[in-house]
Amino acid sequence: MRYGDSSEDNARLLAASYNAFDAAASRLNLNAVELAERMQSGMLADLLKALEDLHGSAPEVQGGICQHCGRDYIGDDSMALSGDCPSDDCPAHIARVLAAEVRGTV
Ligand SMILES: [Zn+2]
Repeated sequence: MRYGDSSEDNARLLAASYNAFDAAASRLNLNAVELAERMQSGMLADLLKALEDLHGSAPEVQGGICQHCGRDYIGDDSMALSGDCPSDDCPAHIARVLAAEVRGTV
């Protein structure tokens, strides 16, 4: 399933994006409006850094369980028990992909 296939997908993506934005704003001790105003004055790099810090460097999937969306990959032979979560509606997956796109590494 790809995002954009239905209005429900779009609503979930919008909610996940807002939650990531709000969490990144909190990390900067700002509210969402303050962050949006600062982004207009060049704070996109700070937002990206906050998002990456929030995501962290620990594997998303640990011991077969995604630490962000809670999916259980135990018993899924196609998945390692530690690594990136492949679910395209997982907040960690979305944050990782968006950050990579902004940095131009995708
Ligand atoms: Zn996940």
